[in-house]
Amino acid sequence: MPAPLIITIDGPAGAGKSTLGEHLARRLGYLYFDTGVMYRALAWAALHRHVDPADAEATAALARTLDIQVLPAGAAADGRQYTVLVDGADVTWELRRPDVERVVSVAARHPAVRTVLRARQRAIGNRGRVVMVGRDIGSVVMPDAPVKFYLNASIDERARRRTVEIQSRGGASDIQHIRNEIMRRDELDRHVSAPAADACIIVSDGLTPEQVADLAMSYIRRVAGELPE
Ligand code: C5P
Repeated sequence: MPAPLIITIDGPAGAGKSTLGEHLARRLGYLYFDTGVMYRALAWAALHRHVDPADAEATAALARTLDIQVLPAGAAADGRQYTVLVDGADVTWELRRPDVERVVSVAARHPAVRTVLRARQRAIGNRGRVVMVGRDIGSVVMPDAPVKFYLNASIDERARRRTVEIQSRGGASDIQHIRNEIMRRDELDRHVSAPAADACIIVSDGLTPEQVADLAMSYIRRVAGELPE
């Protein structure tokens, strides 16, 4: 099939975006690009450099100068999907820490920050053959992408999955606390996270990752059949 060259997956935390994104990228031989990593890298750097993530100007200035590189996982056999370097330092797992998670949405809210990071995301997306995952990719960053998904699930399902994921990495996890954290982030992300009008919406409650991937692939095949050769 003439595969679409850009696939976007948006949706709230814990909806299964990264699992689906990685799966589709592998199946199509595309690059998997998780844009949330860029906001997390910025939040991590703000914490380390004592920049207040609520300060729009200071956080945007940091975003402009920060060197964020997202590379293939390479030889690292610790379950990572990719390697993230911030100014050359490997921060891949640090980006998952609760202190980063607590401030990431605060740093991500500022329009000036989003302008900087969206431009970098667009530059990568425009190279094509990419599955891009985030909150605003189909609606704002790559509005012309031929295939867009919006993946959602109930708060209970998302909290359950996130708890299992954290436990699988050996972390301590209390489902009620995780549920509250997800709800807090949902609220902060509400204004940046909207399905594109032409997105295929998948609600993944009760579906296995394989079933979600099969649904997505059949939608991609349908769109591909309508694309010019
Ligand atoms: O997807 P993930 O949970 O890693 O994203 C972390 C945070 O980064 C989100 O809660 C959101 O505040 C921000 N984000 C964003 N736009 C994106 C991706 C992530 O604002 N495209």
